Amino acid sequence: MDFLPIFLNVKGRLCLVVGGGEVARRKAGVLLEAGARVRVVAPEINPDLAEQQGVEIIAARFEAQHLEGVTLVIAATSDRSVNRQVSELAQARNIPANVVDDPELCSFVMPAILDRSPLMVAFSSGGASPVLTRMLRGKLETFIPQNYSRLAAFAERFREAVKQRVSNPAKRRIFWENVFEGVVAEKVLTGDEGSAEAMLQQMLENEDNIRRGEVYLVGAGPGDPDLLTFRALRLMQKADVVVYDNLVSKPIVEMVRRDAQRIFVGKKRADHTMRQEEINELLVRLAKEGKRVLRLKGGDPFIFGRGGEEIETLAAEGIPFQVVPGITAASGVASYAGIPLTHRDHAQSCMFVTGHLKDGTMNLDWDALARPRQTVVVYMGLHGLDTLCAELVKHGMPDTTPIAIVQQGTTQNQRVITGTLATLPGIAQIEKPQAPTLIIVGGVVTLREKLAWFNPVISEKSVRESP
Ligand code: SAH
Repeated sequence: MDFLPIFLNVKGRLCLVVGGGEVARRKAGVLLEAGARVRVVAPEINPDLAEQQGVEIIAARFEAQHLEGVTLVIAATSDRSVNRQVSELAQARNIPANVVDDPELCSFVMPAILDRSPLMVAFSSGGASPVLTRMLRGKLETFIPQNYSRLAAFAERFREAVKQRVSNPAKRRIFWENVFEGVVAEKVLTGDEGSAEAMLQQMLENEDNIRRGEVYLVGAGPGDPDLLTFRALRLMQKADVVVYDNLVSKPIVEMVRRDAQRIFVGKKRADHTMRQEEINELLVRLAKEGKRVLRLKGGDPFIFGRGGEEIETLAAEGIPFQVVPGITAASGVASYAGIPLTHRDHAQSCMFVTGHLKDGTMNLDWDALARPRQTVVVYMGLHGLDTLCAELVKHGMPDTTPIAIVQQGTTQNQRVITGTLATLPGIAQIEKPQAPTLIIVGGVVTLREKLAWFNPVISEKSVRESP
């Protein structure tokens, strides 16, 4: 961190602007908006600047005496030697100095600001690139409605009352988040502050109206953090505790709010670190403690994710929850491997099945799977690969049917191994793919040859292919 970001109270204080041009005028304007008294020193002064209320004009060359009684200085002349002199004299007197567009001479920098007073967001690159900072400000400008000013002012009015009533800081944070994310905020934003106030009072009067803990069952996608949804990200930033397993990639876990508690409940095939029932109970317990619990799952929670079981327990216990879909392995992995799951020439339907072995056998409807013009995607199928290939052939699929194993799809370690139903089991023995792997069977696999070359994302990530 090159600069300490702070917001300075300059109300009623004297600030000096050296320079009389357009830039000086803008800087004086910002200072005036912050309630400062402004002294402008320059031999020639822009008439607009001279007319501004609350500005003391000194039409002269800058001298050290102009620094007397000054809280901060901004030098905005076009003469670097003057700017340097201002900066040096100010800093010698411990007066913070800013020289416009000259970070070397600055003891403080002026950020780009997004003003929703009293809400204020400041952006700085520490002088490295003001243009970049302003572009970033521009982007965020569109996300933050103008009415946030109103909302912040509303919150300010009730801040003390809420503090008195809800003394526990963690509960108070939840209280305010409920205000900002619920009906109260909507009322304020649409200008109905009367109703908003009544609702807030109700929440204050009755503890029960301060929402209890809740659970977000969130799909984190197949691995690449870019595949998260906005909602997933928002809730990841909000959670008090995250419960995740080993399908959730490390870069994604790292994006969860930094001070959230992390609980790993790693689940590997046959080696369940924590049983499903225990996970269900854990979620209930944490929510009952009043926490916002993020249950982060690989892919989509409702596709081979046992999400249904987890929310069943929550529902039975009356705990509020929401489910956020994620990109399931099949679609994420297929895209990154250059294998469209359907294609007019190859497949009109697509089936997702799990190859999880039960008593050493795969209990699947083989006739249905072996149908022509269909793509079959097998989750958790690697251990049953031999059985899968053999059964499909036995039930009528040509043994020349293309099949792919995609290892750790969408991540930096993505690896794609292709073959046919006849050859892949042998190839896999040599290549030894690492979990998690997804198996894709069907004519669409051949399209990879063509498509992988044209998709820059795919050609970057795909590292290996066997004949
Ligand atoms: N709910 C998850 C699936 C959980 S089952 C989803 O919607 O994707 C776990 C299986 O998903 C793994 O055994 C593997 O078959 C598949 N899988 C998940 N992520 C994967 C990835 N990045 N690459 C390949 N397969 C993956």
